[in-house]
This record gives sequence, C-alpha cells and structure tokens, in this order.
Amino acid sequence: TVITRFAPSPTGFLHIGGARTALFSWLYARRHGGRFVLRIEDTDLERSTPEAINAILEGMSWLGLDYDDGPFYQTHRFDRYKEVLDQMLADGTAYRCYCSRERLDALRAGQIEAKVKARYDGRCRDLDAPPTGDDVSDQPVIRFRQPREGHTVVHDQVKGNVVFDNHELDDLIIARGDGTPTYNFVVVVDDMDMKVSHVIRGDDHLNNSARQSNILQALGVEPPVYAHVPMILDEEGKKLSKRTGAANVMEFRDAGYLPEAMINYLVRLGWAHGDQEIFSLDEMVELFDVADINHSASSINPSKLDWLNQHYIKTLPVAYVARHLAWHLGAIGLDPAAEGAPDIETLVQAQAERSRTLVEMAQNSRFFYEAPQSYDEKAGRKHLCGAEDTLEALYHALSLVEHWTAESAHQAVLGVAEEHDLKLGKVAQPLRVAVAGGPVSPPIDITLALLGRDATLSRIKSAIA
Ligand code: GLU
Repeated sequence: TVITRFAPSPTGFLHIGGARTALFSWLYARRHGGRFVLRIEDTDLERSTPEAINAILEGMSWLGLDYDDGPFYQTHRFDRYKEVLDQMLADGTAYRCYCSRERLDALRAGQIEAKVKARYDGRCRDLDAPPTGDDVSDQPVIRFRQPREGHTVVHDQVKGNVVFDNHELDDLIIARGDGTPTYNFVVVVDDMDMKVSHVIRGDDHLNNSARQSNILQALGVEPPVYAHVPMILDEEGKKLSKRTGAANVMEFRDAGYLPEAMINYLVRLGWAHGDQEIFSLDEMVELFDVADINHSASSINPSKLDWLNQHYIKTLPVAYVARHLAWHLGAIGLDPAAEGAPDIETLVQAQAERSRTLVEMAQNSRFFYEAPQSYDEKAGRKHLCGAEDTLEALYHALSLVEHWTAESAHQAVLGVAEEHDLKLGKVAQPLRVAVAGGPVSPPIDITLALLGRDATLSRIKSAIA
C-alpha cells in the first residue's frame, strides 16, 4: 500500500511551500487508495511551539487535507528512538564517538585549511574500549557507521537517480552527548515504523535522503520511493520570503480566498497536466502523479490565484460561497443574520461577477447592511447635485410599489425616466449613489430588491435632505 506523510517542523506557520508538500503527499495517497500520515517533527525544543502546531493543524483543516494516521509527535517517541539506537550499537551499525568538541573543531579547522571536505576522520569507528586522554569527552555521541565503499543511489521520481559516493558521506551523529537523537535519525525511525512508502518533500532534503536511505538499509529496511519537489520562488525568481508569499496559509483565508482556489493554485505550483488550469479535487486525485512534478522551480503568481478564486466564487454552489461570505461579513463587523439583512445567496449571485475575493465582496456589500455614512465625493457631486427632483420622483414612485421585487422596482424606475424624459442611466445613477453611497453596485433593480423598500426609501430621503 501507498503510505505518504507530511512531516512539518512546528517552528512557524503552515506556509505555501509546506501546504504544497502536504497537498502532493495527500493527493498521492488518495489517488492510490493509500494512507496519509501527519507527523509533527518537534524535536527542536527551542524552536517548536504549540502555537505553530495549532497553526499547522488549522491550515490543513482549512484546506481540507485530512489525515488517516496521526498526528504523531516525535517528542513522544524518545523511548522508541533509544531502542533503535541500542540495537544499532549492539549490531555495530552505529558506534560511540568519544572525541571532544575541541578535537573535532581542530580536525575541522585543519581540513578547511587543507581545502579538503570537512568530515569526521573515524578515530572512534573501531575502538575496543573507550579511549583516554585530553581530547576525550565523557559524554560520547553516537555515530552511524557509514559504509566507506560503493555508492548510494537515491531513486528519485523527479530528479532521476542521484548518485552519492559513500566515502563522501560523513559518519553522521545520530544521538548527541546527552542521549537525544538527531534529526536524520528520527526521520528514519519514523519512516520505518510508519511504513512510509513514498516520501514527497522539498528538494532541500535531497542530501538527507542519501543519509537516511543508508541508515534504513543498515536497519534492514528498503528505503521509500523519494520525490523531491523543486522550490517555490517569488515573482522575481528569488527565494520566497515572508513578504513575498511564504505567508501563513490562513492569511489567504483572511484575505478572502476560498480553500478550493487555494488548493487549485497550490497543485499548479510544480505540477502540470497538459495546459489545464482548473482542477476539481476529484480530478486532481484522479490525475496527480509524482512523475508529472515539474523539474524546475515554480514561481508564485498572485494574479492567477485571484483568477482561480473568482472562478470558484462564480461556480461553486451558491449556498457554500454564501457561508464563506457570511464569515467575512462578520470579520468586518457586519451581521449577515440581522433583521432586514439581504438574502445572502442572492447577494452572492449579484456580486460574484465583480469580486476577486470574498473580502472584496464583503466590503462592496457593506451598504446592504449599513446606510452609507457619507457619499463618494466625486460621485456625489456628479450624480446627486441637481438631482433632487429626480430623487423626489423616485421616492414617490417607489413608495407606491406594492409587491417589492427587482422587476417591480425596475418598472418604477423606468416610469420615472419616461415621465421626466431622461435616459435610464440619468435616473439610476443618482439612485445608486443615494442608496449605495458610491457609483458601484450590482444592477440597480437587484440592488433595490436586496435592500428592501424601507431602506431604499429612507436612503433616498437622506440624499434629498
Ligand atoms: N520536518 C522537515 C521540514 O519541515 C520535513 C522532513 C521530511 O519531510 O522528511 O522541512
């Protein structure tokens, strides 16, 4: 069975790169009817925080990336790591290294000066007994006995076979002097115990894969299939920074993006299927393959995200979009359930065409919930000044409407235009500014229907006064 995992270090939020890795791993498991594991790599006690763990869980849940097993926490597994360390010491695939920090620093300095690759010289590899002397530490570390001969080949689904010369690889420290296991080692034990079949992660981990697959082999386990995904770059082709989009995915929710748009955007950052841009989740699950992951880095593209978001605003079930809009209305202090509030599904349909984000939609809909506090200056000057007669006539005609609908409101506005021999726009624009406070709103008949008679009439009255 296919088992993939997402293994974030909880040192920050779930950002675009992490979310993409999670999505690819999730898709691959779903496509193959496998399992998706969530593992929190929290062994760096200084940098891991509970807030970051929550942010990661929240981000995954917002994106809809559910997991079958976990979350597992590495900090809960120290006994298990210790067990594997003891086993490796016993079978000789690992050894205690007593070299003092001073000795290692001196060794390293000498190698750097001699311009050779800095690496442990293996003094403690074949000791019969602990050494004595000045350069010996009483807190030995544990090192992996890295094979000296031959090659390690990482069979990577994206990069092809990547070959490492074994004698280039160090005898990696797998447990520190205080007994705590190190990063590459715990990943190996976890991937082994969780029976991970496919490791999909950023290509900054490619060198780790050589080390990890060697340790796995020493433990008698077949290494997983690897797929190292190229980086995500900013619009200028530089590494992502906080400012350019390494932001918390929850900021995208707050900025008014739908999770469907975000998922579709993320899948296209590094994966393609022909020139198709829009994928439903079912389609992604059906089509996603690690073999189609791009070989080169992808750049973020905020306008594409806007475009996708608008697509989903227009095409997802209106009740669903309305639920999200309600959340955003609440976020800007409006109560979508207040008495006299417009029918929110009709509102979504009326606003979809001119909203790239739900924040934009909520802001442009404020006037449906609150009378304008002031008028847009330019629009007021242009459309309200001198329009008192028209507004009076509109007030009168609209107050006579019996059954308030978009159609009956339209007829009333049309009647005023004809009576005064004005183009419809000359009547509709002052009316729009009076009720909406500015020159932009959905079509005037729909706007009036959504607002209702009372709000419409009282706003016209205020505009005349
Ligand atoms: N914890 C690592 C990270 O956040 C990922 C390790 C892995 O996927 O093997 O970069």
